[in-house]
Amino acid sequence: MKYVSTRGDTTERAFCDILLEGLAPDGGLYMPQRYPRVDAATLARWRGLAYADLAFEILSLYIDDIAVTDLCAICRRVYSRHVFGSDAITPLKSLEPGVALVALSNGPTLAFKDMAMQLLGALFEYELGRRGQTLNILGATSGDTGSAAEHAMRGKRGIRVFMLSPQGRMSPFQQAQMFSLQDANIHNLVVEGVFDDCQDIVKAVGNDLAFKRAHRIGTVNSINWARLVAQVVYYFAAYFQATKANGEKVSFAVPSGNFGNICAGHVARMMGLPIERLVCATNENDVLDEFFRSGSYRPRAAAETHETSSPSMDISKASNFERFVYDLLGRDGARVKALFEHGAFTLSPDEFARIAGFGFVSGRSAHADRVATIRDTWARQQVMVDTHTADGLKVARELRRPGETMLVLETALPAKFAATIREALGREPERPPGFEGIENLPKRFTRLPADVQAVKRYIETHVE
Ligand SMILES: *Cc1c(COP(=O)(O)O)cnc(C)c1O
Repeated sequence: MKYVSTRGDTTERAFCDILLEGLAPDGGLYMPQRYPRVDAATLARWRGLAYADLAFEILSLYIDDIAVTDLCAICRRVYSRHVFGSDAITPLKSLEPGVALVALSNGPTLAFKDMAMQLLGALFEYELGRRGQTLNILGATSGDTGSAAEHAMRGKRGIRVFMLSPQGRMSPFQQAQMFSLQDANIHNLVVEGVFDDCQDIVKAVGNDLAFKRAHRIGTVNSINWARLVAQVVYYFAAYFQATKANGEKVSFAVPSGNFGNICAGHVARMMGLPIERLVCATNENDVLDEFFRSGSYRPRAAAETHETSSPSMDISKASNFERFVYDLLGRDGARVKALFEHGAFTLSPDEFARIAGFGFVSGRSAHADRVATIRDTWARQQVMVDTHTADGLKVARELRRPGETMLVLETALPAKFAATIREALGREPERPPGFEGIENLPKRFTRLPADVQAVKRYIETHVE
């Protein structure tokens, strides 16, 4: 399998080359040249597989430059009970008839980001070792990505992580998850500013090509194809758990921000997984809902982005969305380039009409919906959901048709977002074993001004 850019650069690249890169050189995102089609016989064979072996089968279709035995060993090490807490890895939790949660948040940092980031950490270590190279990962986080990346990369040979976070903006639990790490290769840089300041610094460093090369700066953001393909696996795993035979169809409801998670569902559907509909759920930051309803994509400025109680979805410019548009427009790289370089765009009526054929529908959820959903699900089913999952569940219940099986992706556990749980239920969220009192552990971080030079100086003095 070779990879090409969404913006028309058709140079063919191998998986391990795009693994260590961010954007394609023309500013596009990497896509496989074609989607491998999974036929009925393959689907039947996969139904009986353990999660790690299913992951190996799916990843093998996209990765042909890692030895089969190595890839298999990586999958078994990553997708284990030891890392994800159960043999099912992503078990289903049924709610009312026709609705179930897909538990994706039982990894080390209690959010679904672990599903892909744990694999990414293992692949980075493998490939850097093979090349005899090192990588310094620079990232910005509002909470979940940073902790998932740090827990995936801690102690890994050849990798250092420099993670910028806005001072005082993460939940106490999220802070503790990051700052309590004592590993020498993890650097928590607390920026005196907001998330956008952190993001701007990462971009400024990325645009300084000389610095970037000299210090081998890399990223772990969600546009990385390896993260996306890792997420394809749980759509298959969930489908097998929810159905008895391969003739049946299911729908997925996905709390969305950067469009990475649901884009993996799109890939699974393109491969032939029997998915009826992909339900894109947004919070008050509803750029994607607006697009699926109207065909108009209007990314918003930071100042127009609301701070909500599902903060990991407070995104107004969905970085993975370009991948779907590329497929929607028949993989016309020149047209995608024109649309995304312009920023905002409106599809023609003919293009808009094609969306239904890809199964996408959408809905929106706001703070009051979130609180009501958390309360109602707790009262009726004694299941506690986090604020992001509540957004997905609200939209799933709203759009579900009679007879439809709706699988809602659980993107985080409630322990990460205690304030809204207290508001909805008047009690503290459940906390899985091993996380008691993490707020009291010693914290390791460095405070820096919101200044590119200060961050560059810090990196220079901490890489050898
Ligand atoms: C990252 C995240 C999301 C959004 O996922 P995307 O892939 O960016 O659409 C939703 N919920 C939680 C808890 C997250 O951490």
